[in-house]
Amino acid sequence: MAQSTETTDWVSRFADEVIEESERRAPGKPVVVASGLSPSGPIHLGNLREVMTPHLVADEIRRRGHAVRHLISWDDYDRYRKVPAGVSGIDESWAEHIGKPLTSVPAPRGSAHPNWAEHFKAAMIASLAELGVEFDGISQTRQYTSGAYREQILHAMKHRAEIDAILAQYRTKPKPADQKKQQARQKPVDEAELEAAEGSGAAGEDDGSGSAGYFPYKPYCGNCEKDFTTVTAYDDDSTEMTYACTACGFSETVRLSEFNRGKLVWKVDWPMRWAYEGVVFEPSGVDHSSPGSSYQVGGQIVPIFGGKQPIGPMYAFVGISGMAKMSSSRGGVPTPADALKIMEPQLLRWLYARRKPNQSFKIAFDQEIQRLYDEWDKLAAKVADGSALPGDVAAYTRAVGTAAGELPKTPRPLPYRTLASVADITAGHEDQALRILSELDPSRPLTSLDEARPRYDKAEAWINTHVPADQRTIVRDEPDTDLLKSLDEPSQQSVRLLLDGLAEHWSLDGLTHLVYGVPKVQAGFSADAGPKELPPEIKTAQRSFFALLYHLLVGRDTGPRLPTLLLAVGQERVRKLLGE
Ligand SMILES: [Zn+2]
Repeated sequence: MAQSTETTDWVSRFADEVIEESERRAPGKPVVVASGLSPSGPIHLGNLREVMTPHLVADEIRRRGHAVRHLISWDDYDRYRKVPAGVSGIDESWAEHIGKPLTSVPAPRGSAHPNWAEHFKAAMIASLAELGVEFDGISQTRQYTSGAYREQILHAMKHRAEIDAILAQYRTKPKPADQKKQQARQKPVDEAELEAAEGSGAAGEDDGSGSAGYFPYKPYCGNCEKDFTTVTAYDDDSTEMTYACTACGFSETVRLSEFNRGKLVWKVDWPMRWAYEGVVFEPSGVDHSSPGSSYQVGGQIVPIFGGKQPIGPMYAFVGISGMAKMSSSRGGVPTPADALKIMEPQLLRWLYARRKPNQSFKIAFDQEIQRLYDEWDKLAAKVADGSALPGDVAAYTRAVGTAAGELPKTPRPLPYRTLASVADITAGHEDQALRILSELDPSRPLTSLDEARPRYDKAEAWINTHVPADQRTIVRDEPDTDLLKSLDEPSQQSVRLLLDGLAEHWSLDGLTHLVYGVPKVQAGFSADAGPKELPPEIKTAQRSFFALLYHLLVGRDTGPRLPTLLLAVGQERVRKLLGE
């Protein structure tokens, strides 16, 4: 069983606060934390913070032995607002569904799912399972259409004047949508971040004001199913409501006490659900936290429903680096599934666990991922030998598992950059990859590539999808005879020294020693000489020696780390390319 890591990091401190608050509000009841996601299109990787923040807190609470529910509210009864770019299997004809609930819009062509919302939810649910996120999913379509919120809706209609008065305080101020644009002007924000900022709930949505008065409820039209409707009359005693649709001209009078095809406007819907579910912790993105925003207004509306505002830290944007290649083909929408193709779930969990919600960070799809993995492996080694700091141990512990146990891990976690280089050079030839990886440490050869999986698969996917063609490594087929012939005496000697040492040094450590040692030996020092015994010129000699080897092996002046490259190329081919 995973241990609690009390009071060592931000997660622990929120857990303390949330447990205490939950005991105060609902003694003896399970702690309730919540996230909201809108399946209006591919769920952006940036929105994962909406789930990971309460997940980590819920997990800590569970580790301490408390009952906790993490609700994920699927805002699938929200209106379909626009046809997103970069989604395959759709065309402009999907625009005819704008205004319908997301669950009434057809899924993209070829989807196995019954509708638009289910299609995009399914991808997120699969990623959350891989990440070890335990949650109770609540479909708002199911809640509203089953009449679960009947009392709350009638109550909101009865108290519409009070709600209207609260909302009126903010109507003269810029709408959230405008504020978002202002923020974008103040600091550079890329499109992907703006996408992410939309998050859950319709920013800048109609708050229920109309010429016939204020009504916090909006029906979906009984004829066209769209929400271009206006409530024109409502009778509190009979609950008779008349609405008209501006899209198709339809109008009808229904009894709201029996009617299940509509929803509360977002700014009323959200606090209603805080009260309905007894939510104690629900963070929100910066766009929901400014004055007049839904979180802030929700705090004033929630007492009408007999509830209290949850503890709701604001979380900062999560950026993405190195998505240029995908942006052009996929509409710039990396999803959690895209990240999980190139990194293990532990690494992705760690990125969220180690940063406080108000700190922004970037998820690397570029070369930075290799450095990140080096850092992660170094941390794992420190945790194993007991030298890691308590805060780092806490983040590590949250990354590798949950209260339910450890996440499946790679049995032999070889360095990601080595795996990436091997995948790069072997280009899908698994037998070659296995041979090279076995030679990294001849005392502990791999018996199967599976021992290096899934990390190997992630590194291979990264090489194949995120490394531009001009940065891929192509090993020469034939020796560069012109270059070999033109070498001066010292260069020839350095190549000779390398060839002579190859057999004896054929391992990752051995070859590292050899390639750094050759220039030392040539300058009259021992191959074991440390930096303090050597003149600074040795560094220059090493650099030119490495450049020469890269030219002879891959026809460029840089490439993957040389020891890895040599192992990957194989001893026989190295000898041939170096002119033996
Ligand atoms: Zn209509």
